[in-house]
Amino acid sequence: MIVITCPYCQSPDCIKFGSNGSGSARCRCHACTKTFTLNPKSRAVTPQKEADIVACLQERISQRGIARALKVSRLTIRQIRKKTLLT
Ligand SMILES: [Zn+2]
Repeated sequence: MIVITCPYCQSPDCIKFGSNGSGSARCRCHACTKTFTLNPKSRAVTPQKEADIVACLQERISQRGIARALKVSRLTIRQIRKKTLLT
């Protein structure tokens, strides 16, 4: 049996508490009543995806088109464009 420990107070008295938006299990601590996700998924843009966005910008593909194709927000594309100083 897997014992879930609370990341806030290290209490082993935790129960399964539904799931979050991406489907990962949520847990709740009985001692401090806080909820948490075990091993949450990273939402960061990977260097590979950033390189793909830069390549698309250099091909003069529209920012909205890149956002749809690579499933990133338009704000992310604008931040990468500003960082790499593409015009
Ligand atoms: Zn706790």
